[in-house]
Amino acid sequence: MKAKAAVFKGQNKPFEVREFDVTKAPSGYGRSELIASGVCGTDIHIYRGKLDTPADTVIGHEFVGKLTDCDPAEASLFGLKTGDNVIADIAVPCGKCLLCRTGDDANCVNMQVTNGENVNRPPHFYGGYAEVNYTPLSNLIKIPETVDPVAAAIFACPGPTVIHSARLAARAGFDIGPDTVCAVQGLGPVGCFAVIYLKGLGVKKIYAVSAHEDPKRSELLKKLGATDVLSLEKDGEEGVTEKLLSENSGLGVDLCVECSGAPSAVNLGINVLRNRGLYLIPGQYSNSGCITLQPQMITFKALRFIGSSQYSVVDVRDYLEFLRTHKELEPDILALGTFYSIGEVNKAFEDAMVGKNIKTLLVK
Ligand SMILES: [Zn+2]
Ligand SMILES: [Zn+2]
Repeated sequence: MKAKAAVFKGQNKPFEVREFDVTKAPSGYGRSELIASGVCGTDIHIYRGKLDTPADTVIGHEFVGKLTDCDPAEASLFGLKTGDNVIADIAVPCGKCLLCRTGDDANCVNMQVTNGENVNRPPHFYGGYAEVNYTPLSNLIKIPETVDPVAAAIFACPGPTVIHSARLAARAGFDIGPDTVCAVQGLGPVGCFAVIYLKGLGVKKIYAVSAHEDPKRSELLKKLGATDVLSLEKDGEEGVTEKLLSENSGLGVDLCVECSGAPSAVNLGINVLRNRGLYLIPGQYSNSGCITLQPQMITFKALRFIGSSQYSVVDVRDYLEFLRTHKELEPDILALGTFYSIGEVNKAFEDAMVGKNIKTLLVK
C-alpha cells in the first residue's frame, strides 16, 4: 500500500506531492490515517521563510486521524487502541530545562518536534500534510468518541493555543468570568476560537475586532458568541476605540486578546484596555516588523501583558473536553472549514495565503 505526502521544498516553492510505502508502525509509534489536517498560520510563516525549516520535510502540526496500527500493549499504556480517533501533538519538551522544571513545558527552551525528520527516511510520514502519519504514542491524544473528529481538527492548534493563554492568565491571578468585558483582535482561527472559548467561560461581553469588513464572518462570529463585531474598515480606528472605551464607565475593556499577528494592533489594544486590564498576546508568532508605542501607557494604566506562544498536552486535552461538553457548537465549527485533498495542497496554500478561507484543512 502507498499513500501521499505533501513535501515542503523550501521558501516560496510549491509543495511536491509524493507517494511512499505504508509500513508497520515502528515500536513506540502509532500509525494513523488522515481524517483532517489543518493549515496553520505558522505553516504559512514557514512557507514564506519566516521560520527556519529544512526542505524535504512534511510540515503541518494539526494532524487528526484514525489510529490503524500500533502495538496493543504499548498503546494501552497511553489509553489508546486501534480504531481511536487521535490528535497528533508534535511538541516534545525536554523535561529538564528551567521552563520544564517550573511548569512551563509549553515553552521548553530545548523543544524538539516529531515532524522534523527528512521525508526520505522511512517511515516517511512524520508531519501533518500526509494521508498517513507516524507519531510516538506518547504524543497521540485520544478524541472522545462523541466528538466529531473533523470538528476537532478545525481548531486542533488554535484551540489549545487560546486555552494555554487563558491558563497563563489564571496563573497570573486574572479571573476571566461573568464580569469580564473582552475584545478579541483578529478573526482568523485563533481569534474565532478565542470568541468561542470566552463565550464558553461565560464572560459578560465579547467584542470581535478585525481589520476588514466581512459580513459573512461577522454573522458567524455572532453565532459563535460575539456580542458585537467591529472592523477598522467600517468603523475606523477611532470608532472602534470609542466603542471599546465606553465599557466600564469609560475606562475600557478588562481583557484584550491579540490574535491578529499585526504589530499595529498592539497600540489599539493598549488604548482600549482599562487600568489594570490584561493584554493576552498569543497572536504575534513571527517577526512582522516594529511599531512605535508609548511605554508610559503601560505604566500609567498599570497594564498587565502576557505573551503565550505554544501549548502542552494538557491544553489539547482541555480543548477536547471543551468540545465534548459543547456539542451544540459542532455544526457552526464545521462550517468554518474549507477542505482540500493532499494532492491539492498548493491550491490550499494559495487560498489560505490570500485569506480566502477561515480555516483551511487537508483531507484524504
Ligand atoms: Zn499551529
Ligand atoms: Zn525543557
